[in-house]
Amino acid sequence: MKNIGIIALAAWALTWVLGYAGLGNFLHVLVVGIDQSMISLAPPIAFGLFFVTSITLTVIWVRQKESNAPTDEASSGRRKFLMGSAAVSGGMVGAAVATMGRIEGWLRVTGPALSAEVEQTAPVVNASWKGARIAHKRPLGRTGFMVSDISMGTTQFLRHSDPEGLFRELLDRGVNYIDTSPDYAGAKSETALGNVLKDRNRGELFIVTKWCTSDGHVSQGSSVETYLTALDDSLQRLNTDYVDLIHVHSCDSVERLLDPNMLKAFDIAKADGRARFLGVTSHTPNLEEVAYAAIESDKFDVMMLAYHHGAWPKQQDIIKKAAEKNMGIVAMKTLKGAKHKGMLEFQNESTSYAQAAFKWVMSNPDVSCLVISFFETEHVDEYIHASGKSMTTNDTAVLQKYDEMIAGTHCLANCGDCLGSCPHAAPINDVLRHRMYFEDYGDQKQAMQLYSALDKNADSCLTCTAPCTGACPQNINIQDRMSGAHEKLSLA
Ligand code: SF4
Ligand code: SF4
Repeated sequence: MKNIGIIALAAWALTWVLGYAGLGNFLHVLVVGIDQSMISLAPPIAFGLFFVTSITLTVIWVRQKESNAPTDEASSGRRKFLMGSAAVSGGMVGAAVATMGRIEGWLRVTGPALSAEVEQTAPVVNASWKGARIAHKRPLGRTGFMVSDISMGTTQFLRHSDPEGLFRELLDRGVNYIDTSPDYAGAKSETALGNVLKDRNRGELFIVTKWCTSDGHVSQGSSVETYLTALDDSLQRLNTDYVDLIHVHSCDSVERLLDPNMLKAFDIAKADGRARFLGVTSHTPNLEEVAYAAIESDKFDVMMLAYHHGAWPKQQDIIKKAAEKNMGIVAMKTLKGAKHKGMLEFQNESTSYAQAAFKWVMSNPDVSCLVISFFETEHVDEYIHASGKSMTTNDTAVLQKYDEMIAGTHCLANCGDCLGSCPHAAPINDVLRHRMYFEDYGDQKQAMQLYSALDKNADSCLTCTAPCTGACPQNINIQDRMSGAHEKLSLA
């Protein structure tokens, strides 16, 4: 066949495109958390077909090329094999790179942060915290509802031996904003909440759920009926006939944020009273793009985003701009990673680290409330004691102490300021992030696997003259931290 080489190359080019836009996109929606039953299998199947076709065309091309060259049989067979292997391997590597390029941000930034388990309980309970009650409420933007400044997240509350009892206790202490989702513990979170809600004064509470099923987020492009069915299922589990707020959950793209079918479903639900307000949550690699699009659209009443002491400037700007539009701001992930072993360092403080961190978050008047996962009985007194309290010099000292503990070691998730200083192109931010998972999140196996999967690791740091010295605004001694990371994370 004439031009078989060009045809094979064109097939590989198409396979790479399908790797990124087809299989990569398929894997992306999987890791983002979309309900798997709503994901089309057509893109990965198309990728698979083109992948096989490309390999076949490559083999035909190699055979044809060799048959045109006069040579002895043995060396021709060897050459065919080597050429074929090289060509096919090159194509496969290209397809893998294209596919991983689509989900790299999630694998690098969001996935490990979500799966990490961190310590968040004070090591010593202070007697003065006992019986604490919610002391302050703030308006949740244009919803006008006065929400408790310390509010309830439910991602982990089923870890408690009596989650319904824990929930009752929180309501009795004055918590009135409850954030849940169908995909928390396969909808068991909503069911447990519903068992309690049926006996409560619904009008005093602000119940929040997400456009999700028990298996994940409703996918972009789903029908209006699919969105509404997901909402109805939530209402049934929650034992209520309306939710106050429904979020587009963990939103990673403007397309999903502004899915016309979701917006239409919300309009219908709002008109018939099933949902009162619309919101968005994001803690993904594309947080800034999604957040600004939500603000600009004027379609969202509330935004929930990661916010903790030491927030980066863009975060402050997002909150300010959202508040100017009278959107409610709900803070999550307020404990700045809460170092796994570091909490013991705070056992002699009158303020716990969590209390100081909460007060810092609520010192921003544009933040309506924060949600925190209560899952131990001790959390009730400790966390709610921070309600209504302003930052004190002691709190500032606690946060400073925390920052000093992580000073020179805490590499920022969305930074990369030092990368240009390394002539060896070492992925400094990735290596140091994996070291943090290893040391602070207690997930050594995952950290070592992530490190071994890097294209380039930190071995060059061991013998380098360190031109990166001074390149980190956080004063991290890059060579020292990188060399230490290599020792800890290397599998061999
Ligand atoms: S010490 Fe490591 S990170 Fe720094 S310049 Fe050398 S190789 Fe790059
Ligand atoms: S080492 Fe410093 S400059 Fe480099 S990515 Fe981390 S925080 Fe940023």
